[in-house]
Amino acid sequence: MAKKITVSKAPNLIGRPQVYFNKEGFEAAIWAQGYDIIIERAVRCPCKTQGSDNLSSCKNCGGTGWLFINPVKTKAIITSQNSSVKFAAWSEETVGDANITVRDSDRLGFMDRITVIEGESIHSQTAYPVIYDDTLFAFLDYKPKEILEVFMFVADNEKLALLSYDEYRIDGDKIYLDDKFKDIQDITISLRYVHAPQYHVIETTRDVMVSTTFKVGETKKTSQMPISARIRKSHYIIDKENFANDYLFDNSYELDPCLHKVTVGNFTICAPVVNTTPVKVGVYNVVYDESIGKFKYFNGTYWVQLN
Ligand SMILES: [Zn+2]
Repeated sequence: MAKKITVSKAPNLIGRPQVYFNKEGFEAAIWAQGYDIIIERAVRCPCKTQGSDNLSSCKNCGGTGWLFINPVKTKAIITSQNSSVKFAAWSEETVGDANITVRDSDRLGFMDRITVIEGESIHSQTAYPVIYDDTLFAFLDYKPKEILEVFMFVADNEKLALLSYDEYRIDGDKIYLDDKFKDIQDITISLRYVHAPQYHVIETTRDVMVSTTFKVGETKKTSQMPISARIRKSHYIIDKENFANDYLFDNSYELDPCLHKVTVGNFTICAPVVNTTPVKVGVYNVVYDESIGKFKYFNGTYWVQLN
């Protein structure tokens, strides 16, 4: 039997001034001041059993255990990039952190991947090119916007070889080296490049942010306010997913989150089946009738069943 919930007695509110949040104001601020970003939804890859870890050969996640689907372009406020305190120990654990605030409709979740489209970050990485399909290439942590320099290791007692622009080319997130390097054993290169900053959500610091809002002409209601999360640069979280020359499967799907569309006349709404309290569709009250498993609306005289 379900536990009986006792409801606390409300205090007397008469004569007490009350302050309410204005959700629209927060959302307008995010849209007006925010960065253009892309959010990709993180889903745990089911390529594992109870007794084993994710498959390193899995073409869905590339062995990382995560897949990123359904990219959405939206806007976000990103603040306190890196550490937000005045005096703090600087370490690998806090570097590359930032705070992000998005509208609640963007539904940010743990490990979701955020790309700041207009942003520019400089990244330095070491790559180990391999030959696959007769081309010498390596995957990079991020998709470069501009390559600043590429150095090749020669020997411990020799200067590094600085590659010129005609000795490599960039395609997406891969660097291809000239064929003349194919005969060299165990090539190691280091490169510095500009890319759009990419982050993962590591903590949803304020995912429950429900406040009472009030608008003239409407009654008071509880609204989900913009959500805030802590994000960290991608390369500190997971390795690049793909080390083979073929791409991972894209598990994104066409977004149609509305399972129960209800149309009355010219109006369509998305109604949850479990909700048996009437919802407004245009001027009509629509309600789900559990006994017949259908929606019905009141046309002023009698209830009309909907398909
Ligand atoms: Zn997998």
